[in-house]
Amino acid sequence: MHEHGLVVARHRRHVTVESPGGKRVLCVAAKRRLLPVVGDEVEWSLAGDGTGTITGIGPRRSTLTRIDSRGRPELIAANLTQLVAVAAPSPAPDWIVIDHYLVAAELGSLAGAVVLNKSDLIDEPPAHLDCYRRAGYAVHSTSTRARGGIAELGAALEAQRSALVGQSGVGKSSLLNALVGDALQSTGELTVKGAQGRHTTTGTILYRLPGGGELVDSPGVRNFAPYIEDPKELQRGFREFVEYLGRCRFDDCRHLAEPQCAVKRAVEEGAICRRRYASYERLYALVASFKARAWT
Ligand code: GDP
Ligand code: ZN
Repeated sequence: MHEHGLVVARHRRHVTVESPGGKRVLCVAAKRRLLPVVGDEVEWSLAGDGTGTITGIGPRRSTLTRIDSRGRPELIAANLTQLVAVAAPSPAPDWIVIDHYLVAAELGSLAGAVVLNKSDLIDEPPAHLDCYRRAGYAVHSTSTRARGGIAELGAALEAQRSALVGQSGVGKSSLLNALVGDALQSTGELTVKGAQGRHTTTGTILYRLPGGGELVDSPGVRNFAPYIEDPKELQRGFREFVEYLGRCRFDDCRHLAEPQCAVKRAVEEGAICRRRYASYERLYALVASFKARAWT
């Protein structure tokens, strides 16, 4: 008999599937080609030994794809609704990293938000955060140390399936702990026993937040390099560029060295932040170099 369920954890080829009634079963995929990821809605059936076999994966409403170590796209989660880019005063923010995530969110039809953690370390938030507010992003200020802003961030995660992403050391694990709390302690059942019988947390896990909403976390999600196929897609990934698109002299304007470019004019007039535009230039070069490599 086939049952439906949600993939709430994955470690290599093993996934934990949760049925609508809350029952959790360890499953493997019936075929090698079937690659379920956390967030997938799957069809499965119980095998004789009490484990399950996944026989089908439902349509994905969104996908999170990273560039793997060989430069190829790799799916890491499905059906997320929000990416939360975390920055901190220390390590110093790399805004291109933040913008890369926000672009990935935009192109993947996910909501995007920005968090400045470790707010206890500074008096004034970086002025650049205003660029995100002006572009229409929610910007939250938190401190896991002083327990500031955690409830507000929790409220922004309600009714969403989110992932916290950002540079190493900005406090994503600390935020996860503060947000998930006791539920984090009880997820031992979710981790899969490794070859040596050790429990490992290298997998991807979906946590339910006490106030509602879900957080998907794993080392592979926290600072993943988003996969963007074509540099031409990037312009749509910068929200504040969109109203200027189609207004350049050339229809196929890349908004780089072209004359009479509406995007660059908006930068000069201050309607688009220079740093956001600088991220666009850098990401354009980055994505173009990956595309060139894919063809060789
Ligand atoms: P991750 O690599 O993004 O997961 O970051 P961690 O959660 O491991 O945190 C990195 C370091 O920053 C740790 O030493 C934390 O104790 C510290 N940290 C996390 N949140 C805060 C905060 O709000 N304020 C301060 N001052 N330090 C923090
Ligand atoms: Zn242009």
